[in-house]
Amino acid sequence: MSKGRTVQVECQCGQFLFKYFKACSGRLIKCFLDEIQDDGVGIFDAPLGIRPAFCGCGKGIGIVRIVRRRPALKLNQGAIQKIRI
Ligand SMILES: [Zn+2]
Repeated sequence: MSKGRTVQVECQCGQFLFKYFKACSGRLIKCFLDEIQDDGVGIFDAPLGIRPAFCGCGKGIGIVRIVRRRPALKLNQGAIQKIRI
C-alpha cells in the first residue's frame, strides 16, 4: 500500500515551482492550493479560472479551478517535468 510522498514540481525550464504532497500513485494532474507547499512562483496569486499561472520563463503551468469546492491548480502537462510516484 502506497502512503504517498511529497513531490517537487518543476517547470520544463528547470525552475522550481512548488512542493505538493501526492497521496496516491500515478500522474500528478491537479493540486489543491491549500496543500501546495513552498509556492515558488506565486500560484496563490493566480486569478481563478481563465488565465494560467505562469513560471518565470513565461510558460503557463496550469489553471486554477474550483474542484469539489476547493481551488485547485490543474497542471499543464506540457509545461512541467513529469512526475510519477
Ligand atoms: Zn519555466
